[in-house]
Amino acid sequence: MRAELAPVTLARFASMETKRPTIPAAEEILGGYFPVLDHGFVSLVDYMGSDEDVERAARVSYGFGTRKVSQTRGLVRYLRRHRHTTPSEMVEFKFHCAMPMFVARQWIRHRTASVNELSARYSLMPLLFYMPHREQFSLQSRSNKQGREEGAPEDVYRRAVERWEALRKDAGDTYGWLLEEDVAREIARIDLPVSTYTQWYWKIDLHNLLHFLSLRVDPRAQWEIQQFAGVIAAMVKRVAPLSYEAWIDYDLVAEPVTRVEREVLSRLVRGSDDGLGVRDGAGVSTEEMKEMGLSPREIRELVEKVSAPDHPDFELDLSTMRSADQMAEAMYEAVPSSFE
Ligand SMILES: Cc1cc2nc3c(=O)[nH]c(=O)nc-3n(C[C@H](O)[C@H](O)[C@H](O)COP(=O)(O)OP(=O)(O)OC[C@H]3O[C@@H](n4cnc5c(N)ncnc54)[C@H](O)[C@@H]3O)c2cc1C
Repeated sequence: MRAELAPVTLARFASMETKRPTIPAAEEILGGYFPVLDHGFVSLVDYMGSDEDVERAARVSYGFGTRKVSQTRGLVRYLRRHRHTTPSEMVEFKFHCAMPMFVARQWIRHRTASVNELSARYSLMPLLFYMPHREQFSLQSRSNKQGREEGAPEDVYRRAVERWEALRKDAGDTYGWLLEEDVAREIARIDLPVSTYTQWYWKIDLHNLLHFLSLRVDPRAQWEIQQFAGVIAAMVKRVAPLSYEAWIDYDLVAEPVTRVEREVLSRLVRGSDDGLGVRDGAGVSTEEMKEMGLSPREIRELVEKVSAPDHPDFELDLSTMRSADQMAEAMYEAVPSSFE
């Protein structure tokens, strides 16, 4: 009886209009694939909720009702400013992403998401390798052990590309040969380099996604993961624009001010009901800041904190959007040829 009913029920669902609130800007890109780096992508596969759901959760209100955008904006900003974060856990995002293995290793450290990764024990790995462009080929930074510095010679880049190509050909040939010899896929894959691409489904709520983005669009994160985070940030902007705006203002470019930093600033500036004013002849030297308890690094950070921040924004380039079929085709084409 059930089996007979199933097709009828499915057909009815297919023709039914959704009762869920949808966001036109998000619907426009839903299921579209946005290329990142040379072979990666991010696609927003699904989403649940938007800014209004943050507000509804905070108020625990009935039904969908209509509220003025300005009221929702005020509440969303208040919640973010005061770290009332659970309402934003009510909004969910599901992404399909492909990234080099070394990017995946950084990404997976964010534990508050649900992940399903492509199994290289089960599936054949596409032989796609990330090749840094000339502009990203940098020297080791002298000031930041986890950073880059310009000035890599042209000749070193050319020779690096030659070496990478040789290594990758070898790794790819060996992978293909092992598969031809019917060696288990889980063994055949063990020497594929971390420049090869993996992919996963990644589901996360808005609160934890914004935490991920704060860390990964930051210039201190590796440039490659920043590229993925930038695309995801632009997708968040389409789904929940008010939360996105509040995130930029209160998280991304905001900096906490410590106790000693507040003491330093209070020597310079005085506040009253009329506003803020500079104290006459005010100034605090580096020596004085050291005596007040700030380390040289904290002093450098404070100087940065008091400079006007950039106003970052993230947008998708819709002209790059591809269909799922186009992306899948590119992946299948890169599987070792004798196994197509
Ligand atoms: C620029 C940069 C450099 C980094 N360098 C290194 C490195 O050299 N080596 C290295 O190992 N890692 C490194 N990391 C990874 C980093 O230490 C974090 O593991 C990663 O950024 C995830 O952050 P998170 O734990 O806040 O995020 P999530 O795992 O998404 O967690 C979100 C929040 O949930 C809470 N939470 C989640 N799980 C727990 C738990 N078990 N207990 C308590 N609270 C929890 C915490 O409040 C946490 O901030 C680096 C990260 C960045 C951005």
